[in-house]
Amino acid sequence: MNRIFNFGAGPAMLPTAVMEKAQQEFLNYKNMGASVIEISHRSPEFDEIINHCDSMLRELGKIPDNYKILYVHGGAQMQFSAIPLNLINLKPARKATFVLTGNWAVKASKEAARYGNCINIASSEDTNFDRIPEWDTATLDPESSYAYITSNNTLYGTRWHNFPDTHDVPLVADMTSEFLSREIDVSQFGIIFAGLQKNLGPAGLALVIIREDLLNHALPETPMLLNYKVYEEQHSLANTNNTFAIYMMSLVLDWLKEQGGVKKIEENNNLKASHVYDFIDKSDFFSGTAHPDHRSIMNVTFNLADNDLLSDFLKNALEADLYALKGHRAVGGARASIYNAMPMSGCEALVDFMREFERTQG
Ligand SMILES: *Cc1c(COP(=O)(O)O)cnc(C)c1O
Repeated sequence: MNRIFNFGAGPAMLPTAVMEKAQQEFLNYKNMGASVIEISHRSPEFDEIINHCDSMLRELGKIPDNYKILYVHGGAQMQFSAIPLNLINLKPARKATFVLTGNWAVKASKEAARYGNCINIASSEDTNFDRIPEWDTATLDPESSYAYITSNNTLYGTRWHNFPDTHDVPLVADMTSEFLSREIDVSQFGIIFAGLQKNLGPAGLALVIIREDLLNHALPETPMLLNYKVYEEQHSLANTNNTFAIYMMSLVLDWLKEQGGVKKIEENNNLKASHVYDFIDKSDFFSGTAHPDHRSIMNVTFNLADNDLLSDFLKNALEADLYALKGHRAVGGARASIYNAMPMSGCEALVDFMREFERTQG
């Protein structure tokens, strides 16, 4: 069987070992004579899976005890609604402050504006989000219920290298495209959330890590299944959760631990990203689209000197088993998403291909 290198932004590649393990036990989970997707979300076997997921997340993500872990429906974008519903009421001004670093932040801000006063305090839209904008946190209104950022900007290939200190205003971060790819200090945040499909598992579910004092502020009209308190009280099992996604995530977390944990995977991610960026920076034909000081190590965005060659580039890449390198339409050009599961050999194959393409077509 020939497996491609999948550079898609999401759903993204998962470690082959994880899928093999899932395949192996798919028909007969732990000798139950039933699949993991056929057993009750209230069975002791599933209980063990979700507890294992919790403890692995706590260990790998260094999540302090005063933070709760929730598994919530609707992927990352459902949180664009859930966050204001749960948090906008924290202070009477019903204000939320957003830093606009790309489409996902813009969308989140628009959604929050349905529930309160949104202040878009900084933006890099005028340079097509090629960087994280300067933001002096002294301008943050302490009456804001929360401040919101997108930590890694999947479409544009940028990330926050250092996070803003928002003092008493809880910082909320969409970490969908980078959670557990680098070490972070969870205690800097009020809420961290991530859709699973980039670095953690299958699509459709999101992980929410929330400081416990923020759990009890939902607007009265908050739908039951968007209320974080409901998830917390019922261990994310108020209704039938996506048991398969939680199971898959638990396998991904086991794999991550086998790789040496987050510190080790971050070192590896840095090496992978450097391998691609170093080539792009030396090339006369390819050029990076993100400002070098703000580059992501998860999503590498680049242009060809002649973008008329893009469709040939993508076609030839596919023939070389390098899949889904097309950039997002908001940026154009090409993008290589190199999440945790992408091995160094995938980045090497990409660079070898790009070098050859430049030599023959450039
Ligand atoms: C992919 C992505 C999303 C959207 O995720 P869905 O699960 O499709 O809603 C949101 N934010 C970021 C940063 C992303 O990378």
